[in-house]
Amino acid sequence: MTSNSKSAPSKKKRVSKPRTRLKSDDILEMFVKLADDRPNPETELEYNSPFTLVVAVALSAQATDVGVNKATRVLFAIADTPKAMLDLGEEGVAERIKTIGLWRNKAKNVIALSKMIIDDFGGEVPQTREELVKLPGVGRKTANVVLNEVFGQPTIAVDTHIFRVSNRTGLAPGKNPDQVEDLLERVVPESFKKGAHHWLILHGRYICLARKPKCEKCVIYDLCKFKEKTA
Ligand code: SF4
Repeated sequence: MTSNSKSAPSKKKRVSKPRTRLKSDDILEMFVKLADDRPNPETELEYNSPFTLVVAVALSAQATDVGVNKATRVLFAIADTPKAMLDLGEEGVAERIKTIGLWRNKAKNVIALSKMIIDDFGGEVPQTREELVKLPGVGRKTANVVLNEVFGQPTIAVDTHIFRVSNRTGLAPGKNPDQVEDLLERVVPESFKKGAHHWLILHGRYICLARKPKCEKCVIYDLCKFKEKTA
């Protein structure tokens, strides 16, 4: 049996990377306007140390910041260090966070991450993403928030608000949070990278609402590419 040794040249599918729909001047103008609007953006989660921020962010999955703050005010008054959290125990933590979604699992994670911080990191919250994501209940998003908020790194944690604003405006369209994060890292001007995370979250939370964006109050209305933006 003969066979044709020459196989057809394989057609490599080029996967095109998502690209911003805005010109770089417009991106710069967008951040100037967002920064003017909120000169001192801060996280709305309450914390008093890197450890309490890790716990607060880990608790905030599928919960509002207001709900998390209500629970952590009680929890952190009793335990705001990994050692105190271990002493309180899983049941003790669970008791204080019952008002938050997924509380059973979150209580388990808070105890496990406290133990790991003591056993593997000398009692201090690690300062690299690679180490942070090793902590139980800490994903890339939580790690990015912690790196940005307490260690001053220009990371951008893509949550539901940033994902929506980035897609609607055309700043960083993407099918998933990783794509959006990757593109934001490439297009956000250096001087705005540290605050970008807050400006985009707060814009999504208070102006570019999921169901009914308040376009009439939007400071970046002229730059936004959202087809359905309302006049
Ligand atoms: S114009 Fe409307 S859709 Fe666009 S960013 Fe502003 S609020 Fe969101």
